Amino acid sequence: MSDVTVADEIITTDVVIVGAGPCGLFAVFELGLLDIRAHLVDILPKVGGQCAELYPEKPIYDIPGFPVVTGQGLVDNLIEQIKPFGPTFHLNQMIQALEPTGTAEAPRFRVVTDAGTVFDTKTVLIAAGGGSFQPKKPPIPGIDAYEGKSVFYAVRKMEAFRGRDVLIVGGGDSALDWTLNLQPIARRVTLMHRRDDFRAAPHSVEQMRALVASGQMDMKLGQVTGLRGEGSTLEAAICRDAAGETFEIACDTLLPFFGLTMKLGPIADWGLNLNENLIPADTEKFETSTPGIFAIGDINTYPGKLKLILSGFHEAALAAQKVHRYVYPDKRLTFQYTTSSTSLQKKLGVA
Ligand SMILES: Cc1cc2nc3c(=O)[nH]c(=O)nc-3n(C[C@H](O)[C@H](O)[C@H](O)COP(=O)(O)OP(=O)(O)OC[C@H]3O[C@@H](n4cnc5c(N)ncnc54)[C@H](O)[C@@H]3O)c2cc1C
Repeated sequence: MSDVTVADEIITTDVVIVGAGPCGLFAVFELGLLDIRAHLVDILPKVGGQCAELYPEKPIYDIPGFPVVTGQGLVDNLIEQIKPFGPTFHLNQMIQALEPTGTAEAPRFRVVTDAGTVFDTKTVLIAAGGGSFQPKKPPIPGIDAYEGKSVFYAVRKMEAFRGRDVLIVGGGDSALDWTLNLQPIARRVTLMHRRDDFRAAPHSVEQMRALVASGQMDMKLGQVTGLRGEGSTLEAAICRDAAGETFEIACDTLLPFFGLTMKLGPIADWGLNLNENLIPADTEKFETSTPGIFAIGDINTYPGKLKLILSGFHEAALAAQKVHRYVYPDKRLTFQYTTSSTSLQKKLGVA
């Protein structure tokens, strides 16, 4: 059990959703159609998971029915879609402890957050993505002093970089995508990578090389070894090339994109079978090794798993069916379409 102070009042509910990313949000919809109300808990101060936190302004092209939608746009639409089901959000809280208190046939769980919220729930749906994801920091001495003012590990608002001298470091998709997105609005963008070989999508690399060839941005090979500035205001990055030569790049903004570390956090202590920090789930109902605990979205694994938002949406729909069996063991579930079922439409407030 965790050592947090627990609230006097225990919230009794049918389902607690761990994580308010796109998959946790869509699960509210699928559960709501089956008369199951959800409580969602997320460590972050806002909903939307990776879409809202890591790429709110980037376009997504593979959400069925949306030729293009930004990360935040998708989250906003999901919030609109789940409104009829009035989910309760508990933000800025991490689910720390999860203890079974029931049986395999009639599961029940005591779930406690680090803010002291306690739930007594019949089922738990883990939609925790990569756990609490954190950017990998480059080993540059003194970088902490510049964080938040001159050094950023994510782009929350592109406008914040208008007119700035931006140095982007990395060779993956994030580095290349933000190079291309910020190049039109920044005063100057320089991309630095250790070698002239990029992991990013080839068409992004081609676009970047064309901008360099036409003099609209710079590309340098090397590594940042130090930073020069006043207080938290960056003036230049001190760099070294493969031959060991040192040089400086004048910049007021550094965006290092060295990937994310997956911190599974307390989920590792919940007694579930884990496979390389992922939770194995069956593909019929996305239930874990513990009856009554489900895993959907990026956190789960099964043969053929694709870490795509659309996969998580499908998983949410199937998990909801089995959650229904635990929540209403005596009720038969009949399959219905939202297009033709007036009872579903009533739940959605449209009939
Ligand atoms: C740059 C980038 C671009 C991408 N582009 C696409 C794309 O084009 N198409 C596509 O399909 N996918 C894309 N993805 C992947 C997509 O974002 C993920 O598949 C999706 O976000 C997974 O959703 P999720 O709800 O499972 O998890 P997440 O979005 O990771 O949300 C999980 C939430 O759980 C919370 N959490 C974790 N542990 C706890 C805990 N113990 N207690 C409380 N809260 C917790 C986290 O804070 C987080 O908010 C992209 C990802 C990135 C990084």
